[in-house]
Amino acid sequence: MKRKCLAWILALVMTLTLLPGAALAAAPLQEMDNGETVQWSARSGQIPLIDDASVRGDSWNVLRLTNQHRMSLGLDPLSTFDSLQKVANQRAYEIQFVFSHSRPDGSDFDTALRDYNVSNTGSWYSWGENIAAGYLNAAEVVDGWLNSPGHRSNIENDGFVHMGAGFYTGSPSAVYSYGWSQNFLGSSSCRVSSLQLSQTVIAGGQGADLEELLTQADIVVTATCSQHGTCKLPLIAAMCSGYRENEAGEQIITVRYGGQTAQLTIVPQQPAEPDLPFADVSEKNWFFDEVQYVYENELMSGTGGGAFEPNSNLTRVMAWTILARIDGETVSGSAWEEDARNWAMASGVSDGTNPRSSISRQELAAMLWRYVNQPGNRASLDGFSDVDEVAGWAAEAMSWAVDAGLIQGSNNKLNPRGNATRAEAAAILMRFCENVVK
Ligand SMILES: [Zn+2]
Repeated sequence: MKRKCLAWILALVMTLTLLPGAALAAAPLQEMDNGETVQWSARSGQIPLIDDASVRGDSWNVLRLTNQHRMSLGLDPLSTFDSLQKVANQRAYEIQFVFSHSRPDGSDFDTALRDYNVSNTGSWYSWGENIAAGYLNAAEVVDGWLNSPGHRSNIENDGFVHMGAGFYTGSPSAVYSYGWSQNFLGSSSCRVSSLQLSQTVIAGGQGADLEELLTQADIVVTATCSQHGTCKLPLIAAMCSGYRENEAGEQIITVRYGGQTAQLTIVPQQPAEPDLPFADVSEKNWFFDEVQYVYENELMSGTGGGAFEPNSNLTRVMAWTILARIDGETVSGSAWEEDARNWAMASGVSDGTNPRSSISRQELAAMLWRYVNQPGNRASLDGFSDVDEVAGWAAEAMSWAVDAGLIQGSNNKLNPRGNATRAEAAAILMRFCENVVK
């Protein structure tokens, strides 16, 4: 259903253009050329004004793409301002009802400029409008306009200074899902001053493409037009000079708009902490650092399918494998279990029985203790309430493990016969590597 609907919408894609030349032929603009105030067209009836000055997402990208095209031809980029943006959003809304440069009340599109009090003085003054419906995103609609001569000539008109980028999402029952409008404006009295950037420092890196950096950072350039007040446009690479893509260190680039300049500093990006590739381990878990440690030191890997299974029990063969890796053995491939078992028996760490059984905390302590040749350091276990559960054969190893800080106990219990989960094992092994083996 969705796909059919999409094809139907695409089949109805339409664009219309009204060239400034065509508008200039009309009476109001001829008067304007003489420096007089525009005599707006007569109106018949009222149209609800949506009063929406927003420019974001797709409409902001229409402005970005339009300016990228203009600057590739050596033309100045266009900026929008609140009242012109209201005009563009109004027109994108109105074409849901009447897909025409005439408004739903029959008046010409330029009456929307009056509705929103867009300033229109100067020795010359021009405007143009591109509309489209049914296009699904900014890239599609700008591409559509550029492939149509009339629309393209508006986009490439050197006389324009500003452009409102209108976007309106229609109701589900509307014929066109999205309405688009570009409302261009140029005047002899537009003078830009006081350039500002929404961010003056962004992270980059050697070899980074400036356009990609700027698109990602989404820096808003704000300027003041002498006639239209605060106006804004997205910062694009063509507005910048001095960027050296292959430079590793910090660099300062110059941003130009309307004869004004501002500076943008690009600092080297700090290398990101590598994320763990496990869906079941996040920074919220108490064992995040421990799992990260055993993973990065190649002591423990995942259990497959993007999982670490932190709460699964560690098996005896897993413990043999980890100790073999600490010992510098390569244990991987299809025979890893056999290799690990052989190593454990040869090194005296384990008798090699029950490889798939879960390992208890005291068994793990005993294996580690044997691996480091049964050192004599001892801590008293008397303070733990479950000291009686420690097996005779494990008593020395547990005492050593507590002394070495490998096993810390919780709620005053050692839990010697409890199974070691993989997360607990990661914690014990991290301390073992940092405190004992080093
Ligand atoms: Zn202006």
